[in-house]
Amino acid sequence: MTDSLTDGLDELARELDQAHVFHSWSAQAAPPGLVVASGRGSRVWDHAGREYLDFSSQLVNVNIGHEHPAVVAAIREQAELLTTIAPSTVNLARGEAAKRIVDRAPDGFSKVFFTNGGADANENAVRMARLHTGRDKVLSTYRSYHGNTGAAIVATGDWRRMPNEFARGHVHFFGPYLYRSEFWASTPEEESERALRHLSRVIESEGPQTIAAVLLETIPGTAGVLVPPPGYLAGVRALCDAHGILLILDEVMAGFGRTGRWFAFDGYDVRPDLITFAKGVNSGYVPAGGVVISDPIAATFDDRVFPGGLTYSGHPLAMASIVATLDAMSSERIVEHAREIGAEAIAPALADLADRHDVIGEVRGEGVFWAVELVADRKTREPLPAAAMGRIKSALIGRGLLPFIQDNRIHVVPPCVVTADEVAEAAAIYDDVLATALVAD
Ligand code: PLP
Repeated sequence: MTDSLTDGLDELARELDQAHVFHSWSAQAAPPGLVVASGRGSRVWDHAGREYLDFSSQLVNVNIGHEHPAVVAAIREQAELLTTIAPSTVNLARGEAAKRIVDRAPDGFSKVFFTNGGADANENAVRMARLHTGRDKVLSTYRSYHGNTGAAIVATGDWRRMPNEFARGHVHFFGPYLYRSEFWASTPEEESERALRHLSRVIESEGPQTIAAVLLETIPGTAGVLVPPPGYLAGVRALCDAHGILLILDEVMAGFGRTGRWFAFDGYDVRPDLITFAKGVNSGYVPAGGVVISDPIAATFDDRVFPGGLTYSGHPLAMASIVATLDAMSSERIVEHAREIGAEAIAPALADLADRHDVIGEVRGEGVFWAVELVADRKTREPLPAAAMGRIKSALIGRGLLPFIQDNRIHVVPPCVVTADEVAEAAAIYDDVLATALVAD
């Protein structure tokens, strides 16, 4: 195709999008986003062949990279065999996918309920917790995102909850975040201890016997890659145990390789009762999510009907893509690679950027899950204003890097398969943009 023809396709894509596509979380008159026509590994292209390094993994979901050949082939093969089947049927791909997921979970988890994504995974985990305990309330943190459906959006702590508060029984509390501590803490230990004391007081004040579950992102992602301080998750588990409350860990963003571990909680001394997942389980090649259910909760529904379901629960294309994704992640050591590239390439590159740019207030993360917090003033930690963040975002895209920008932060979240050369290439772009895009401020 000639350049003008392919440029024409980008233009056509934008025209059709503006005329007919209603977008998430947006005022519809906002300018269109970037056209993306194809991808491979950590890179994507528009129709005209303009290349972008994807340091967003889209919505932090393309853990295995774009267009992994084994996953694409598995979807194609499954499509030729059986593209769709009702959830009540028995299907080999579904059983294989569930087995591969429980094999990566702790002992005592044997069953998986499949959903279409992360929100409905949390929705159903909350439903299971309420039915299992006979209690109603669900506690979650203000700095969280759990999805955009009835209970999941009201469990969410951030601004997206407020226009959607139609579900009942949700109570919020503050989790640990030392850089912007709610507890006047100055060490990780203090932050952990005081955040636990706060949660304990919230539980007492709400009435422990009314609380079905505490729902937590193991590492809150969109809220800023808030790696929990030592002892926090184990402390939450202990509080739950003391009061017969279930612990649901939301691993939708943090799970399946992002931290350099299969589950983020594998790095902590904690075992949840329910695990929710989506994104990285098949890198979003086909929409899928689910709940990994511990045996006592699964047993609650042995003779009692579970009142929940979805037409596409355990959809064969999604299942085939999960099997191929998890097999490839194991055989190609993709999770180990994420851990190594995080420690050996991303951590030093971001530390170097922090040395060179006063605008960086804090860098935190692990694996391929990092946040760079930008501040107007390092002492006061005042967040860099939205207009400056907007300029940084445009400049990064202009330099061929797809960023994940949230509030005053750049989240550095490439696919798990990112190479050391690609990290160096991205670091040079961040460096240049931080040096030039803020000059007017
Ligand atoms: N939970 C977490 C931690 C998430 O990051 C997200 C999405 O970003 C969700 C749940 C919702 O997942 P989905 O958009 O697939 O419904």
